[in-house]
Amino acid sequence: MSRKYYITTPIYYVNDKPHIGHAYTTVAADVLARWHRHRGDEVFFLTGTDEHGAKVAESAVEAGQEPQEFVNEVAKLFRIAWKNLNIKYDNFIRTTSPEHHRAVGVFINKLKASNSIYEDKYEGLYCVGCEKFITEKELVEGKCPVHNKKPKKIKEKNYFFKLTDYIEQVKELIVSGKMKILPEERKKEVLGLFEQGMEDFSVSREKVKWGIPLPFDKKQNIYVWVEALQNYISGIGYGEPSEKFSKWWPADCHIMAKDILKFHAIYWPALLLAVGEPLPKEQFIHGFFTIDGKKMSKSLGNVINPNDLVNQYGSDATRYLLLSQFPFGQDGDVKKSLFDEKYNSDLANGLGNLVSRTANLMEKNDVGIDTAQQPISNDKVDIINKQIEHYRFDEALKGIYGIISQANKYLDEQAPWKHTPDDKEKTTIVLQNVSDWIKTIAELIYPFMPITSRRISQQFAGPSVKKEDGLFPRLSDK
Ligand SMILES: [Zn+2]
Repeated sequence: MSRKYYITTPIYYVNDKPHIGHAYTTVAADVLARWHRHRGDEVFFLTGTDEHGAKVAESAVEAGQEPQEFVNEVAKLFRIAWKNLNIKYDNFIRTTSPEHHRAVGVFINKLKASNSIYEDKYEGLYCVGCEKFITEKELVEGKCPVHNKKPKKIKEKNYFFKLTDYIEQVKELIVSGKMKILPEERKKEVLGLFEQGMEDFSVSREKVKWGIPLPFDKKQNIYVWVEALQNYISGIGYGEPSEKFSKWWPADCHIMAKDILKFHAIYWPALLLAVGEPLPKEQFIHGFFTIDGKKMSKSLGNVINPNDLVNQYGSDATRYLLLSQFPFGQDGDVKKSLFDEKYNSDLANGLGNLVSRTANLMEKNDVGIDTAQQPISNDKVDIINKQIEHYRFDEALKGIYGIISQANKYLDEQAPWKHTPDDKEKTTIVLQNVSDWIKTIAELIYPFMPITSRRISQQFAGPSVKKEDGLFPRLSDK
């Protein structure tokens, strides 16, 4: 049954250029969006960039640019990276866009009208790197543990959101599973945060100039995190006089990395409850990863630019290499040093070889596709589809690779290249069996490797099959 499916990535902070971490999240969301579209669901896939805040303003100054000029350039880099990775989003929301400003204004006014906002003094610490208020408890040797920098002392007038009014309700919605936090261990982590106690939080900042002014007090700008979360509704027309927003909201899935769990699992639902909007149905939180066993960092020089991967392997193979590494949702290690090997074994020798030698034999023996044959449907295919739907991408890809290996093995055993012209009937059966599997594989790989999928489907479509250029040219061994 077809249904609507609204999926989001976080909007990425423009203080950073696109790297493999952003790519990992975005490719995963694209796989789900494509899988749902392919099944006939009506899909909206939102991604974008988070462009306000003190840190961005500082970076613009360092770059000798106006903030808007600076964010325009970085936002463009994200769009280029997503184009290279063949990410098919429906909207790219930017927090400096007029539609975002309008939606945020409507939302904040509603918050105010619901009596969920009050004015107070904030006195405490703030880490510009995190764009987060930070408590003494969280410091390590007086410094932010993430940025290894001393936080700023801040004393200013802020507007606060009455988080404490909604906290029990949010907790209950998570415990009951009405708003799913996945995987299970992240749900436990969130429930643990409630135990630590929660305080009301600032929704505005007095001294941060690069932001959206508070509609009812223009001397204040909306706190960048509060504003950024609203991209999930501004990106689908919140506050506009159209049906678009009510069509897509609530989100079916927010995907993110675990560092922003608290904002998404607690603050965002509380804000939505305050304005009377339904909550996202599901939030899936993936883990952190290391590169060849080392933490990714600028100082180590091991930050991977996704464009470099695409240049080397192509977009389909890059998507495959990223998602086949370890279970999505857990921490893991990206074995960059083994990318060449994995590309050669799984894609060049596995899928590429199966397709090219089958097409070659079909052309040589004048065997075509039996178009009356229905696509193969069996338990294996059903299991793989379930795995994709439930974020188990590595298992799904292992399952697909299993089918590829099985088909290659069958071909080796039958060895139709040894057949004589008298074996024509036998040859036809063997090659049509393999081509049925190939068509099934093309269907299954579509969300991960859309270009390859389409090429194979077109090649294995009619009464005559022709040999074509290899899908995955073998990388020479270094
Ligand atoms: Zn920090």
